[in-house]
Parts: sequence; C-alpha cells; structure tokens
Amino acid sequence: MVERHRFDTLLIANRGEIACRIMRTARRMGLRSVAVYSDADAHAKHVREADEAVRIGPAAARDSYLDQHAVLEAARRSGAQAIHPGYGFLAENADFVDACARAGVTFIGPPASAIAAMGDKSAAKARMANAGVPLVPGYHGDDQDNQRLQAEADRIGYPVLLKASAGGGGKGMRVVASAAEFQAALDGCRRESRAAFGDDRMLIEKYLTRPRHVEVQVFCDSHGNGVYLFERDCSVQRRHQKVLEEAPAPGMTPELRHAMGEAAVRAAKEIGYIGAGTVEFLLDFSQGQNGSFYFMEMNTRLQVEHPVTEMITGQDLVEWQLRVAMGEPLPLAQHELTLTGHSIEARLYAEDPANDFLPATGTLERFALDRDGAGLDPSRVRLDSGVDSGDAVSMHYDPMLAKLIVYGNDRPQALATLTRSLAALDIRGVTTNRDFLQRLVGHPAFQQAQLDTRFIEHHHDALF
Ligand code: ADP
Repeated sequence: MVERHRFDTLLIANRGEIACRIMRTARRMGLRSVAVYSDADAHAKHVREADEAVRIGPAAARDSYLDQHAVLEAARRSGAQAIHPGYGFLAENADFVDACARAGVTFIGPPASAIAAMGDKSAAKARMANAGVPLVPGYHGDDQDNQRLQAEADRIGYPVLLKASAGGGGKGMRVVASAAEFQAALDGCRRESRAAFGDDRMLIEKYLTRPRHVEVQVFCDSHGNGVYLFERDCSVQRRHQKVLEEAPAPGMTPELRHAMGEAAVRAAKEIGYIGAGTVEFLLDFSQGQNGSFYFMEMNTRLQVEHPVTEMITGQDLVEWQLRVAMGEPLPLAQHELTLTGHSIEARLYAEDPANDFLPATGTLERFALDRDGAGLDPSRVRLDSGVDSGDAVSMHYDPMLAKLIVYGNDRPQALATLTRSLAALDIRGVTTNRDFLQRLVGHPAFQQAQLDTRFIEHHHDALF
C-alpha cells in the first residue's frame, strides 16, 4: 500500500505546456513547484515559471527527462515530497512508480500494478472481458501458433486488424483484408514488433471501418470511490496522433454516455486504479448500429486533452489529482458532476504540413493570442502554452507548442470561437500547423460532426 500524505513541494518531471499547466494549479493550491530541465531547456518557460529549477542532464530525453535516478535526485535535493510526471516521459513507467515509493516520494498517478495491468494489450483485454467491459470481437489468447492465428482470423471474418500485444503508438499494427494475405501480414507484423518491443505476440481484432475514438475520463480515490467525468471525441487523428479533441462527443445519447461511463469505471476498478485515467473506446455507429462501443485501451495518466473535460465540468483535474494523492476523497460524487456546453481543443505543433509534417525549429519571434483584437472572452478561450515570444524551439522533444481550448454554449458556438481564436494567433519565426488546423476546423464534414478515425485520410484533398 502506497502511503498518502500531504505535501507542500511538488516536482514536475516534465517540460513544455503540461509542466506550466501543472504549476498553475500547484501555485493556486499554495504548493511550491520545482521544475527539472535538460541543457536544451535551461531558459524554457517551465523553468522560468517554477519556484525552483534543477538541471537533470543533457538535451537527449534518455539522459534527462527519462532518467529516473536524476529526477529522484532532483526531488531529494529540492525537498520535493511528490512528483507529477505529466504525460509521456515517465508517466506510465511502473518501475519509476516503484522507485518513487522506495525513495519515499509520492507519485501523482496510479499504483505500479495498475500501470502494469494495462501495459500488455492481451492481458488487459482478458481482464476487461472479466470485468464485463465490451471488447471488439477478436482473439487475445496465449496460443500464438501461426495456423491457430489464421483460424481465429477466419472465424472473426475479414478485414481484421493484427496488433502487437506489447504495442503502442500505432507500431506493429496492420489491417489484413483477406485470408490469402494473412500469413505474410503476420510475418511482417511479428518482425516489426520484435524490433520495436522485443516481443512478437499478436492479438487479432475485427477491423472496424469507420469507428470513432471516444474516451471516458475516470477518476478514483484511495477510499474505493470512482466516477466518470463524461467523454471526449478524439477521432480527428493523424497517424494515431490526436489533432482535434472535443467534449462532449457529438451524437451521444444520455443512455450511451451512462453505459460507457459505467463500463469505464468498472475497467478502472477491476485493476485497482487510483487517480486520473482515460478509458479509450471505439464507437461504431455504422451498419445501423445504435452506437456499439468497444474497449481499446486505458491510459494511466493525465491526457493531453484533459482541458476540454475541465471546460464542460468546471473542474480542475490537476487539483483532483493532487488531492487524491494527498489521500483525500474525490471532491465530487457522480450525481454532483454536471456537463454544460461544448469544448474543443486544437493542438498547435511546430511542424510543416506541406512537407510531410516535418518538425520545425527556430526562434519564435512572436507567439501570442490577440484576445483583445479578436474580442475573445478570456473565460471561453484558453491557451495552454509551453512557449512565449522569444523562445527557441529545438528538435529534441515533441513538437507540440501549445493547445488552444475554446468553450461555447453549444458546438456551433464553440466552432465559431475556435475559428476566430486560430486566426488571432500571432506566430512568427517558426512554421506551425495553424493553417492546417484552420482548414480542418472549417471543413464542412467537421462542422457537421461527421467524424471517424480516418477523417484526415478521407478528406485529404481538401486539407492539403
Ligand atoms: P496504440 O497503442 O499503438 O496506439 P491502439 O490499440 O490504441 O494502438 O490503436 C490505435 C488506433 O488504431 C486507434 O486509435 C484507432 O484509431 C485504430 N484502431 C484500433 N483498433 C481498431 C479496430 N479494431 N478497428 C479499427 N480501428 C482500430
């Protein structure tokens, strides 16, 4: 059992917008914030905004933000009793959670066992099936004989999706259109998976042709309480990377929301979850379906897109995380949570859409949102940014610069505000995907919420 007690100094083991965002809440709660930084980030915004900053190594993430020992040493030196990992880096590393416990530092996140339970796709699916969480029809068994897998694929019916059990980030995944192509695809997938994960176990799923990605935000405390904070639609993705996210998901009925929310809380409770988590589902409205949903995976961290949930619930999810980590019960019960209005988030990347989204670098001569000029209501437009005017953008880390989050009474109003806000971004010196975001948001299919996970692919010609 992890000990939970109050802390007054919080180390944020991350950089960029999420480090700055966590510090905002820490400050409001009266906590002291300690930033960590690599040599490439010595002058970064998250370092400027922290109460104290500790260097943890050279630019390469492996030698700094991913270096568990360096991060824990920084906590010891700065007197931080708790570590918030943000997302990425050490956020879903069960070994790091154990190392924090050994060092007597509170990890702001779930127990190591819950992270491990969701880390292996096959094992996770088996547990979800036990908990009565719906799965895509498929095979996730231990028998990995080639002939057995082929027989299972034939039974499921083509097209099927081959996935690496140990996979992540869309790697080791392949659609197989027919029985004739199966063995060659299996060989390819196994090779890729061995190279990427050192593991070639596969699972097979029915391939859904036009699903939506709808995920449920859950929260559990250390007293056995669990709630869901409704859902987000993150169907607009490029190579499995989300680009636009919104809450609530268009077209949800109260019944479907309730059923998905309950299933997500069951999933979390099944693995003894504590803290903020996201249960991802594929939602299928095709073939006259009334909205069938299937568990895909659980992300055992705070998500990039958590602000849209904050906008429609009026809650601060980082505050919830910190309170839960201090051993407090959840701030609200399920019946006290309400959903009001509509929120959309756009991810702003330093990248060149005209050049295969190659990451862009340079100095941001200017980076600002002209709220006054565009008449934007500050309570309805939020810019979560990891950079300011004058900052350098290097090639060492994820190229996401900021997230623009808007709120409206309804979806059309949120769309109108997002359109105006994107236009009011004044960015000079570094190429970004802003124009691409404008084309996406302005596309009639997005305006009409005709969403599916291959949205960008389907509308390629209009978007590029
Ligand atoms: P990873 O962990 O590598 O990101 P996931 O299992 O989460 O892999 O799947 C990544 C993406 O692939 C999903 O967001 C979804 O768009 C698509 N996908 C996954 N499973 C299916 C399926 N059975 N049918 C259709 N698309 C799928």
